[in-house]
Amino acid sequence: MTASARPERTPGLLAALAEVDADQAAADRSGLKSPALDAFYDEARAQITESDDPAGTRAALAETLLRERGGACPDGVDWCTGIPANHAGHLDDHRHESVEYRMAGDYLQDPAHDGMAAFQMAAWGDGTRPTLVFQGTGLWPDLTPEQAKELKRDALAWLIGVHATTRRHAVDRQPTRTPFTETRNEQEAAAAFEVATRAMGTAMAKSGDRAAMVRAMRAFLDLCDREDQA
Ligand SMILES: [Zn+2]
Repeated sequence: MTASARPERTPGLLAALAEVDADQAAADRSGLKSPALDAFYDEARAQITESDDPAGTRAALAETLLRERGGACPDGVDWCTGIPANHAGHLDDHRHESVEYRMAGDYLQDPAHDGMAAFQMAAWGDGTRPTLVFQGTGLWPDLTPEQAKELKRDALAWLIGVHATTRRHAVDRQPTRTPFTETRNEQEAAAAFEVATRAMGTAMAKSGDRAAMVRAMRAFLDLCDREDQA
């Protein structure tokens, strides 16, 4: 891509940009609006638009904001983003919130919607007993660690399924396509490979020690190889 090419506005990019908009709106509602903060969000949108991993870049920028504003949480909770609207008022009304991960792209029918499948760490009051919370039905139930594990397992299967289905769709749309003969297992294996390589790319991009990450991945593959030969 040349410097002047306009990046493709993928659903992932749109979702990440929508999250930045929501974060900025929440900060504004909390009375944190400032020229510096507005400039930060503008820069965040620019970096996310250029990124190969919009969701990852957005999460990293949210962490940067939190770190740079160290102490932004009026109660000094170090994992809190410091921007939930109800930090003011009586201690019992304080809500501490971690970075929220949610899906909020153009695939939602209602653009004003908060997004779906939102997940974060949150605590009321003194913030010493954070819980995992998940919004999937409009409710925000606390999750037990076992439920969080189940959610992660289901979310991965869901993501692989989305990749498998879109890949199959793309094949079907090719005018000169040969008949699609892959089994469901073969389709899901190809999709899981795509998810895995993207995940490895993110791991290497985020790691402070890329070489060590590559060694760890190679060790994992060697282990798989040995298991196959055993
Ligand atoms: Zn807080």
